[in-house]
Amino acid sequence: MSERFGHGIVWMRRDLRLDDHAALATAAERCERITCVFVLDPGLLRSDRIGAPIVQFFFDSLAVLREQLRSLGSDLALLEGDFAAELAGFAQRSGAQAVFYNEDTDPAMRARDASVTRALASAGCAVVALSDLVYAAAADVLQDSGKFYTVYTPYRRKWNMLAHARPQLPIPSLRLARRRLCPASAIGATPDVPRPEAYGYASSERFPRGGSDEAAALLRTFAAGPITAYADERNLPAREGTSRLSPHLRAGTIGIRTCVAAALHATGADAWLGELVWRDFYHQLLVHVPRVADEPFVLKAKAIAYRDDGDAWRAWCSGTTGYPIVDAAMLQLNTTGWMHNRLRMIVASFLTKHLLLDYRRGERYFEQHLADADVAANNGGWQWSASTGTDAAPYFRVFNPTLQGKTYDPGGTFVRSMVPVLARVPDRYVHEPWTMPPLIALEAGCVVGRDYPAPIVDHAAARTRALLAYGSILSRS
Ligand SMILES: Cc1cc2nc3c(=O)[nH]c(=O)nc-3n(C[C@H](O)[C@H](O)[C@H](O)COP(=O)(O)OP(=O)(O)OC[C@H]3O[C@@H](n4cnc5c(N)ncnc54)[C@H](O)[C@@H]3O)c2cc1C
Repeated sequence: MSERFGHGIVWMRRDLRLDDHAALATAAERCERITCVFVLDPGLLRSDRIGAPIVQFFFDSLAVLREQLRSLGSDLALLEGDFAAELAGFAQRSGAQAVFYNEDTDPAMRARDASVTRALASAGCAVVALSDLVYAAAADVLQDSGKFYTVYTPYRRKWNMLAHARPQLPIPSLRLARRRLCPASAIGATPDVPRPEAYGYASSERFPRGGSDEAAALLRTFAAGPITAYADERNLPAREGTSRLSPHLRAGTIGIRTCVAAALHATGADAWLGELVWRDFYHQLLVHVPRVADEPFVLKAKAIAYRDDGDAWRAWCSGTTGYPIVDAAMLQLNTTGWMHNRLRMIVASFLTKHLLLDYRRGERYFEQHLADADVAANNGGWQWSASTGTDAAPYFRVFNPTLQGKTYDPGGTFVRSMVPVLARVPDRYVHEPWTMPPLIALEAGCVVGRDYPAPIVDHAAARTRALLAYGSILSRS
């Protein structure tokens, strides 16, 4: 029989919603009264591990969550400062005896949670941690030998068995929680959700919009049609072929069980379900092998001789490499706080293979610019692209950016939308403008070297250099 409490705190972190919420539902079952609390971390907000799109997304989502709680007669208690001190102080002031939270997989957050738990326990407060971030917790999908999986395909097979064994994984409901929520009058005055500008971040209308209402609307639209065409459309950045739910799954403005249920109920949604499984796969890897957050999964890859070329780095960041698909992708990231998955693979391959720069620099840049920046998926994606990860692309796979552009953006609709100077370049040259005859270039207003950069590396030479640098290390047994 689980211990019961008079008053419990639901410590919200990356789960900014009220439904399908394990910690909230469990707290509602075990406490007479519950208060939802969010603690702003000024250290993280001022660090270089975060950027404007994700800060704006979280603040918007917090504001929506607060409105939802207020409409239920309660409120969101917003605290700022050291997690342990703030939570212990709030527990003491409000007479709470327990803190409920949903576990993270990020090693830094797990270390923080362990120290907060110790501090709360010594202040006499119980702590209850729940699994909620992923559909299958790291310990739920193991090989028969008990080892964790490092290869996706068998992981997925086992994951499928779990999903089919309990297809109706209970989605915790808000009904009971509603009755338990502490009235706003008992929570007292609590500060407004800040604007990103308060921490030095510029807001933008172009960044993804936060809030659980927005997430529910996106899922509804996606499940009503695009989900079944996903397998065909998912690689085309000019189409709205993917769900755009990643910032919501990052901030928890939608629950993973709700997404999995939508995929299991739709016909032809297996390809999309497969991506949700990739998400679980990378999260379990981070739990079992936390060192991947800092170093290559394949240890010998530590010896790869990356270059330190400031000009190449700046060209990649600013979208001025001279390869339209790479540049358009980086401009999409820099201006909208999101990038299409096919493009993430292209720019990551370009950085690590063509430019031979350390994948960790790209990973950090993504952290600072993505609204969905997530250690598990970001690290997994970067290490996959750099051929240093588990079940990664083989080192000799070096995407040809021109061919990638022609295949996935035929006619150049996407690159033109991001790089206006390419607007009048004829289709056949749009992914390789350096091959345009001079007269055509003049007519198109896109003279390479004047209006648009010449390619910063030659594809064939860069590929040979990458094969040597990676092959000399990774092909060794
Ligand atoms: C180099 C690189 C870096 C990446 N960094 C991140 C990141 O920081 N955060 C992030 O959420 N995703 C990351 N991804 C994975 C993927 O690109 C995004 O999840 C996807 O583009 C988000 O768009 P969507 O929501 O429309 O995805 P959909 O195609 O609709 O997929 C649905 C959901 O599945 C999950 N998902 C999809 N693809 C992957 C994948 N390959 N790995 C793990 N989960 C996946 C996401 O949560 C996504 O929202 C990265 C991929 C690469 C190659």
